Amino acid sequence: MSLAKVLAITFVLFLSAISWCADAPTITISVDATHAPRKIFHASLRIAASAGDLTLYYPKWIPGEHAPDGPVVDLAGLFFKANGQTLKWRRDLQDGFTIHVDVPEGVTEVEAELDFLSPAQFEGGFSAGSSATDKLAVISWNQVLLYPKGWTADVNYAASLKIPEGWKFGTPLPIASESGNDIHFKTASLTTLVDSPVITGEFLKVVPLAQDPLTEMDIAADSAAALDAPADVWGHYKSLVDQAQKLFGAHHYRDYHFLYTLSDHVAHFGLEHHESDDSRVDERALVDDASRKLSAGLLPHEYVHSWNGKYRRPYDLATSDYQQPMQDDLLWVYEGLTNYLGFVLTARSGLLTAEQDRDDLAVTAAQLDHLPGRKWRNLQDTADAAPQLYFAPQSWYYWRRSTDFYSEDTLNWLWVDVIIRQQSKGKKSIDDFCHLFHGAPSTGPALKTYTFDDIVNALNQVVP
Ligand SMILES: [Zn+2]
Repeated sequence: MSLAKVLAITFVLFLSAISWCADAPTITISVDATHAPRKIFHASLRIAASAGDLTLYYPKWIPGEHAPDGPVVDLAGLFFKANGQTLKWRRDLQDGFTIHVDVPEGVTEVEAELDFLSPAQFEGGFSAGSSATDKLAVISWNQVLLYPKGWTADVNYAASLKIPEGWKFGTPLPIASESGNDIHFKTASLTTLVDSPVITGEFLKVVPLAQDPLTEMDIAADSAAALDAPADVWGHYKSLVDQAQKLFGAHHYRDYHFLYTLSDHVAHFGLEHHESDDSRVDERALVDDASRKLSAGLLPHEYVHSWNGKYRRPYDLATSDYQQPMQDDLLWVYEGLTNYLGFVLTARSGLLTAEQDRDDLAVTAAQLDHLPGRKWRNLQDTADAAPQLYFAPQSWYYWRRSTDFYSEDTLNWLWVDVIIRQQSKGKKSIDDFCHLFHGAPSTGPALKTYTFDDIVNALNQVVP
């Protein structure tokens, strides 16, 4: 290599270093959720810019949903302005989640206005499904923001939110100030913002579960009566927090908020975050005995994800930004192990009795015994094809197969637990693996990725 070439490369590296050292910009975002009962949310953003093409992204691959299901079709009312002038924009022809804005000379900041059209008629699915009623709403920040190309996880947002008059709210996002129905949050990274939804409602109950770190349930319901659960229910959720600390031996959040929505008019699912979960069930899921049993395993599953899925995450699911495709091959650990540990904690917390919990596992085993699709599609393929299978129709379910890395891998991790107990002659269990893999030291919402080999090595450390 010639000296001239070395000098040229050094110069290029020097220029790159300058751009790396530049401060990440702070974007201002104000969300107006006062029209939540009409199922429309408005957002205004201020984004630093310079003359030329400003490339903005609408989040596409949504963490925890393992698929490119960001609801871009519900993005409307999009206007860009600078210095009082409306700017031209065009969608990228190769990626519908990318917007190019034409920024004129002399402009240093672009104002963006947008509406998020939340489903007005019932829609199932995940966070893009029905999320608002005339009594409550869940705000997922990824649905109401854009972010600029070139800055990924390190771009910051100064966010504020206006909720309907008289409604209360809950969120893990740290608050800077509050005045009436106007909430200003502390500046947070894009990653933290998207990871910190807000639940708001006319009937909202806060149930403290633990003090250090602060752990609470923020429950919004379509009626006040739906919040009036028997006292022992809160005891079981307190026990869930205790038992999870015992299982893992450490935690990886500052505070934790169970954001629990009780409504017959929103999509029913659970979505994990580092410091919260967005879980939505029937309106009477806390007060009705049968309904409570049916949803007993949901919060244990989502809570486990704070350790398994958020803190420890497969390397190829930890993408640098929401436009990068996720690879779902290790969902048998991310979801399968979470589901097994969720079963364990559901019984240990008393949310179900041990017998009810074992019956639940037996139902899973019996269903898999009668699933003809297992003849042609192996279990790994249900994870590899997860971005499609999550949205598959119900018809031909048993021949197509579904996201069976939840159910069948629950049984595989039960088998792992049995092997650990057998080989250690009863001295060790899956708890030892969790302490080693997910445990100390306690941290804030950190990310530590793993590969298949890391799982094998950790299991071999528990029982060689
Ligand atoms: Zn899960």
